[in-house]
Amino acid sequence: MITYYTADYIIPVTSPVIKGGVVALDEKGLIIGVYHSADPQLQDKELTRYEGVLIPGFVNGHCHLELSHMRGKVPTGTGLPKFLSTVMSQRVASQEDIAQAMIKADQDMYAKGIQVVGDHVNTAVSAAVKAESPICYHTFVELIGFDPAVADERVDQARDTEYEFEPQRTSITPHAAYSCSKKLLRSLSDKVDNKNIFSIHNQESDEENKFFRYKQGAFLDFYKENNISHEHVMANGKNALQNSIQFLPEENRVVLVHNTYTAPKDMDYVTRIGRDVYYCLCPKANLYIEGRLPKVQNFVLSKQKLMIGTDSLASNDTLDILEELKAIHEEFEDLSLETTIAWATINGATALRLEDKYGSLEVGKTPGLLLIKGLDGLSLTAQASVQRIV
Ligand SMILES: [Zn+2]
Ligand SMILES: [Zn+2]
Repeated sequence: MITYYTADYIIPVTSPVIKGGVVALDEKGLIIGVYHSADPQLQDKELTRYEGVLIPGFVNGHCHLELSHMRGKVPTGTGLPKFLSTVMSQRVASQEDIAQAMIKADQDMYAKGIQVVGDHVNTAVSAAVKAESPICYHTFVELIGFDPAVADERVDQARDTEYEFEPQRTSITPHAAYSCSKKLLRSLSDKVDNKNIFSIHNQESDEENKFFRYKQGAFLDFYKENNISHEHVMANGKNALQNSIQFLPEENRVVLVHNTYTAPKDMDYVTRIGRDVYYCLCPKANLYIEGRLPKVQNFVLSKQKLMIGTDSLASNDTLDILEELKAIHEEFEDLSLETTIAWATINGATALRLEDKYGSLEVGKTPGLLLIKGLDGLSLTAQASVQRIV
């Protein structure tokens, strides 16, 4: 059976907004047609009508499902190094608590219209939830190891974890520049093929830049507190981004997550060396940890590919992409909703190589269908809400 949905507007994302447009889906959620209101093919069709705007399901570009039990446990505004120490010391919990929190987070994300998630893991505990979920997950197994001596064993451990997840939608990734030795990045580069997508926490704090540029700042305390040696790192006057990406293989796609302290010269560097990069913004997590947002206009001006993530419930009170968009629009009023919806859908889907099925209202895709209500025309308001239709 085919259902024809219409609303004040539809935003197909990969084609222009249609006032009073219609989208037709079969019972499996497959898109059969996208129409203008006057299309003769609609003549004898019964329409299901909504007030608001219809869009495809969201892509949450960055999450850590396995930290869902940490909601409300980490104080806000501590800055990144302190946040990391707290997560490391507080993440231990019973298997039951961890499992229940993941199930709830997965259900909440689906209810809030999230269709695809790029999800970071350190363990395989989330594999069962993901296998049962209506959400399509791409799992990034994180590598952490600042001590060069552990490089090879860490890559082997990550491989073992990777086997627990669906093979087509898993990759191994460095966690961040400040948590991976150069040797680890090189060892990983030798062991992955060019389809392996990387997803790196990048310049979430200016302390990362201070550490690599001058070997100063709060990361020195973080390493000391956690007994992590940094002897092998020399101050080199370069920002954190330049200290990670150059050691990864050139052909592989890289998602850079956070980018709160990414400067135009960092973006220029990435462009100059010809890397295939997506910048994933997690605004509410940035406000939670550092109390500050990335300079979004710099990314827009230099035409970077942006996507949106929630990060985990350790640094957010919701896993809700619409709330992330509100945080961006509140600060950057000139952005159009059409632009940021594309970041939150097709860009994330493309970054994860899932754009053949997700991220836009196009015939042949199964992207989900969401109704955004409470808008002012096509402008996002604080009262806007999302309802999953399909
Ligand atoms: Zn993260
Ligand atoms: Zn984060």
